[in-house]
Amino acid sequence: MKYISTRKQEETNIKTAILKGLADDGGLFMPEYIPQLDAEFFENLPNLSLQEIGFRVAKEFLGESISEDHLKEIINEVLNFEIPAVKISDDIYSLELFHGPTMAFKDVGARFMARMMAYFSEGKPMKVIAATSGDTGSAVASGFFNIQGIEVYILYPKGKVSPLQEKQLTTWGGNIKALEIDGTFDDCQALAKQILSDEELNQKFTLTSANSINIARLIPQSFYYFWAFSQLQKLQKPIVFSVPSGNFGNLTAGLFAKKMGLPIHQFIASTNANDVVPNYLETGIYEAKPSRQTISNAMDVGNPSNFERMKNLFNNDVSEFKKEIKSYSFTDEETQSAMIRVKADSGYILDPHGAVAYLGLETLRQAQGDKKDADFIGVLLETAHPAKFIEVVEEVLKEKIEIPEKLEAFNRKEKQSIEFPADFELVKGYLLKEN
Ligand SMILES: *Cc1c(COP(=O)(O)O)cnc(C)c1O
Repeated sequence: MKYISTRKQEETNIKTAILKGLADDGGLFMPEYIPQLDAEFFENLPNLSLQEIGFRVAKEFLGESISEDHLKEIINEVLNFEIPAVKISDDIYSLELFHGPTMAFKDVGARFMARMMAYFSEGKPMKVIAATSGDTGSAVASGFFNIQGIEVYILYPKGKVSPLQEKQLTTWGGNIKALEIDGTFDDCQALAKQILSDEELNQKFTLTSANSINIARLIPQSFYYFWAFSQLQKLQKPIVFSVPSGNFGNLTAGLFAKKMGLPIHQFIASTNANDVVPNYLETGIYEAKPSRQTISNAMDVGNPSNFERMKNLFNNDVSEFKKEIKSYSFTDEETQSAMIRVKADSGYILDPHGAVAYLGLETLRQAQGDKKDADFIGVLLETAHPAKFIEVVEEVLKEKIEIPEKLEAFNRKEKQSIEFPADFELVKGYLLKEN
């Protein structure tokens, strides 16, 4: 399988696509075609475990680049937590993607990417540079923790992440170093870019970034669509996935699953006030905007990076987009009232991102009214545990929520960070003294 940049100027193999992340032409790597799974796989799907599904799907994308035994081992390590589809009402299920070590769905992608990078770097020492505004950094740190030969440098803005997020970035030790930058997230991102393109640093080290555009983060995110389907197909109704979207990686992975043959009836791209994609589907015009701050802040993205991949999948044709995806945008007020309603009706606590996805299912059902199509099973992707957004959730629901032990454990640990002004030369000087 070849991997081709969305801007068509670069063609390579999976190893290089993963180690580089971004293509030289500025595009994102895509498999040259989406592989198909055979009829036998689908017949057998209800009997497969999450790990078995992960292995079969990953193998299609990785081909001969890794042995089956090694891939199995990696998949079993990555997927060592549950991803249950929890019933909220008769026809709505929450696919809980938050049972990993940092309690957000980004664990799935980050854990797979870390192991793939370690495998393809063949023991050559590597330095991973990651700028974060919060949750991506903790999933990356956790994913790479204790991976041989890889040192990770997380750049985060001082005072601009929540206390719990900061603990999740700074308490790892070992091969994870937290650089606390006196500046904004944009400063951190600019520093990361400068580090990655600095000649002297590149001569001394093998550097790579761990951002969300890496194809190794996308591939494993398709596993759980198959897994959810395998659990719910016995209900014998069409299945609709509502995906709370920011950079649209999660949704793109769902599109991969469908193209591989999974009979998903419909996707809903649910967004907060950052409505570039819903607007595009309505008007056919893609207009990036500055991001707007909302209570579902992991989706505050004004120019979603994976739009380029989706465009590629749909041959740049908005009518193709519209066939697969409905897209709706919701305000913070609507999100808050959905959280309150769902809690009151079912006892289920949604985090603000899951609540946006819930609204997408509700809106589609209303739009379809009494039509036969309205009889579907809606699956919302619940991307974070509510305790990760405890400030918002407690304020909206007017009640205390329990912090799971896994998160509490971070709170008890000692913060270890190295402080820097937002000054490239100082950060570079520090890195040059590293081994
Ligand atoms: C990153 C994130 C999202 C958005 O996912 P994309 O793949 O960027 O669309 C949604 N919810 C949470 C909690 C996230 O951390």
